Amino acid sequence: MADTTTHTPSTPVYVIGAGPGGLATAAALQRRGVRTIVLERTHAVASSWRGHYDELRLHTTRRLSALPGLPIPRAYGRWVSRDDFVRYLEQYADHHRLDIVTGVAVSRIDRTADGKGWLLRATGGRELTSRAAVIATGFNHTPRMPKWLGRTAFTGQLLHAGEYRNARPYAGMDVLVVGAGNTGAEIAVDLVNGGAARVRLAVRTVPHIVRRSTAGWPAQASGIMMRRLPPRVVDRAARTLAKASIPDLADRGLPRPDTGLYSRALQGAIPVQDVGLVAAVRAGRIEIVPAVDSFDADKVILADDSRINPQVVIAATGYERGLDRVVGHLGVLDSRGRPLAHGPRTSPAAPGLHFTGYTNPISGMLRELAIDARKIAKAIARGDS
Ligand SMILES: Cc1cc2nc3c(=O)[nH]c(=O)nc-3n(C[C@H](O)[C@H](O)[C@H](O)COP(=O)(O)OP(=O)(O)OC[C@H]3O[C@@H](n4cnc5c(N)ncnc54)[C@H](O)[C@@H]3O)c2cc1C
Repeated sequence: MADTTTHTPSTPVYVIGAGPGGLATAAALQRRGVRTIVLERTHAVASSWRGHYDELRLHTTRRLSALPGLPIPRAYGRWVSRDDFVRYLEQYADHHRLDIVTGVAVSRIDRTADGKGWLLRATGGRELTSRAAVIATGFNHTPRMPKWLGRTAFTGQLLHAGEYRNARPYAGMDVLVVGAGNTGAEIAVDLVNGGAARVRLAVRTVPHIVRRSTAGWPAQASGIMMRRLPPRVVDRAARTLAKASIPDLADRGLPRPDTGLYSRALQGAIPVQDVGLVAAVRAGRIEIVPAVDSFDADKVILADDSRINPQVVIAATGYERGLDRVVGHLGVLDSRGRPLAHGPRTSPAAPGLHFTGYTNPISGMLRELAIDARKIAKAIARGDS
């Protein structure tokens, strides 16, 4: 790829990352006549989705997960499978004839010497300049593995949920899943269904659990309706709905949370959509245990000081944004490493530098990525930022 060092109207806008967020923004920019190049560190679009576990399906509906300019085919069903979503993203890139350069990772972004644009340093010593750039490298960028004491000397198998593909390797085994977010809950259910001998789920903070849909009405639709209401109103409504739709699992170690669903979501804890957790916990097929404190040889020590010895520990403990290395020096991140400005808005310190996909809204991230894509494209095309 040729290096560019001047700013002309044909200088492309670079979009970093060929996941749904980057593809949607590139399509929206192109639609506005802005020359756009997507830079992707791996060798294909949708790389995050290719790496997710086999049984994964979207929690958000097909219709409310589509990106601008191309519906997800009806044939993929209401709850789209991982493979079909990857296929959709491939079709999306083809349909919009997006200009995607794969095998190029952006390692650092700086202001250009003339102060008018951005200099992107990328694989192979590339230095690319652009008047605007869009960072779409993913909310779930770098697996977060807690630094539990004794972890490295654990004699069992310890892996991050990002490495989990299916239950086959764990058939007949005693497995501890750590973390009761959507990923941990789904992996625990997958293990039970896939023949693991014993499955325990370590829970630090009890999650809110919602039905994926009730009488055909998807939880996502409630999320969309409620996200603009005051949190205490949503919290109250969610509590009433939960009592009516989710059985009390307190005797199984999962009491109802005493904090509100939306208040928690605003702090980043998205409710767990039930795709089998409730039934498995009720039936005793998934055992709830306290949070992990540390490791001691073949033992895992839990927060109540009890010791268990699972053969496998799967840490569904989330991800880091991984933005510090790339833009940390620009003063555009908050103390948690998330962008201070998001979507069409840019930080005063960094005009023209946009971020998409770094929030986790209850209305569905794909839907928000689609909305942001159009807004970012509008801001860049108008030269607002
Ligand atoms: C298990 C799971 C299930 C989910 N299910 C849903 C759902 O049902 N509905 C919903 O709305 N949302 C869901 N989400 C949330 C969200 O929609 C997805 O994570 C989505 O893939 C985010 O898209 P993205 O483009 O922001 O990031 P990603 O899909 O993570 O794409 C980022 C891309 O950037 C590339 N990249 C990273 N760093 C660099 C770099 N330095 N240079 C160049 N390229 C780089 C990566 O290789 C990757 O291709 C889910 C998330 C997870 C983890």
